[in-house]
Amino acid sequence: MPLDFLKRKNAAETPATATPAPTGSAVMPEEVVAQEFQLKLYYAGKTSEGVRMRAGQQAMSDLPSMLVGLAKSEIEVVEPLAIEFSQATPTISRPSEAMQWLNAHHVHSPITRHALVVLESIDAIDLAFDTFVCSLLDGEVDTSGYPEYNAVLGGVAAHWDEATGDMIVRAVVGWGGRGVRGDTDRIGAKLLAGILSNVLANQYAMGLTAVERPMPAAGRGGLVCAHCGFASAHERAFYCPKCGMRLLRG
Ligand SMILES: [Zn+2]
Repeated sequence: MPLDFLKRKNAAETPATATPAPTGSAVMPEEVVAQEFQLKLYYAGKTSEGVRMRAGQQAMSDLPSMLVGLAKSEIEVVEPLAIEFSQATPTISRPSEAMQWLNAHHVHSPITRHALVVLESIDAIDLAFDTFVCSLLDGEVDTSGYPEYNAVLGGVAAHWDEATGDMIVRAVVGWGGRGVRGDTDRIGAKLLAGILSNVLANQYAMGLTAVERPMPAAGRGGLVCAHCGFASAHERAFYCPKCGMRLLRG
């Protein structure tokens, strides 16, 4: 079939007005034509109530087992941050905080780092006192190993109750990035229930407890644990965030 009809008309036939003549005018137009730019980042997450654990220090080594059957990648343990990382924040425009954050977390997998960015940004975990055990729970990773925006990550976060010294474990899930999908929230809720059920099934679990999380580190911390040598970034801590032993105040 001949395609002549698709050919452009002879250039000579094109009216000269098709190309506007440059005016060189510096007059302010009545309406400014703006090009719009926008990036919508969406981070979300859920945490469960806490579960009080008997024999806290033995229970600590049981934390990764609470993700068995739900984890879709290697299970990683992120320990509470020591004093030299007390300002660590995943915010690249704050170079000192960002450097601390990278120094603290570059050893972790892309999945765990993504989970930390999401969950720290929305305040669902605080590594001044939390021990965070993490895995991919749903969805896919890209070719570099980083989770897609609708992948659900998380696991459990544990801290020491400042009143009793018991270990408190809660289920934590999060997701997010450049986009959002309608069913991710439902999947996240289901996974949260699955993790909580695993926590409650643990041999040391004593039941749900309504315990408030410790206040975030207000100062520069500085208490050094006499038992394990950990220098806590959490100024108010009575219990070592790392080993759970009582911190001695000088
Ligand atoms: Zn300690």
